[in-house]
Amino acid sequence: MTMKFIFLLALLLSATAQAWTLNNNFGAAFPKGRVKVFVDEGTVCPTNGVTYEELEGLVGPAINTYWNKVPTSSLRLDAAGFSPALSTINRGRLCSPTDDDCIAAGEADPEGLIPAVNEIVIACNSNTLNFGGGNVLAVTIPNKFSGKKIKGSVILINDTSGTFGDLSRSDKIGVIAHEIGHALGLGHSDENASLMFYRTVAQRSRLGQDDVDGISFLYPIGGDVYGLSEDGILSCATINNGGSGPGGPLLPAGICLVLMIFLSELRRLFKRAKGRATF
Ligand SMILES: [Zn+2]
Repeated sequence: MTMKFIFLLALLLSATAQAWTLNNNFGAAFPKGRVKVFVDEGTVCPTNGVTYEELEGLVGPAINTYWNKVPTSSLRLDAAGFSPALSTINRGRLCSPTDDDCIAAGEADPEGLIPAVNEIVIACNSNTLNFGGGNVLAVTIPNKFSGKKIKGSVILINDTSGTFGDLSRSDKIGVIAHEIGHALGLGHSDENASLMFYRTVAQRSRLGQDDVDGISFLYPIGGDVYGLSEDGILSCATINNGGSGPGGPLLPAGICLVLMIFLSELRRLFKRAKGRATF
């Protein structure tokens, strides 16, 4: 039995237990859960009629109304003002570092490729190839990784249409908060009570339980005690009740804890064995 097998077992058990999802297939998250959120100081949003100062004013409410309020998570976001202007941010292509076709197309595009960033950077963008339609409000891609850690993510508001600009202020804040969820490593939830639901829900003002579970999984408190969080993989923080959802029945917390202790012991055993072999 290898660590890879344990990883797969853990992933299988956790994947069947929640309705929330990850936006990548290896559970990547920012290290340490302290992340700065910037707005590119050179961004323009003429179609949406939003200034970059207005955009920056949405960041504080987005992080403080939503993500900074989770007591079971170590995540702490800072609204950090403006980041230096990137020349390709307003019209360039945004690609995942693993999407070779996108990168090749971006390099051939006269508007260029948006470079890898540190932390989270928000901007407007009017390259239609990034959005695939006017109904898409925004696109977010973690575009800088170090192993299994996210080092940077870019959030692009769709400025090929004015849909974002037509929203109320609180709905704009909800959209920014949803995209920050993607930037942090979360995918979509199929619970419409969740901020990470794939469609906007007007007048949302708090996270759903599913969002709380998802972010606590990626950014657990003290997760390296029983979970495998040093690899960003698993912790018990998320599995906390017996409710059911579209993702299937939740794993009872007690079983999770036993499983985590078991995995932790196994890991220790492997580490010791490895230590012996290589000393
Ligand atoms: Zn989304």
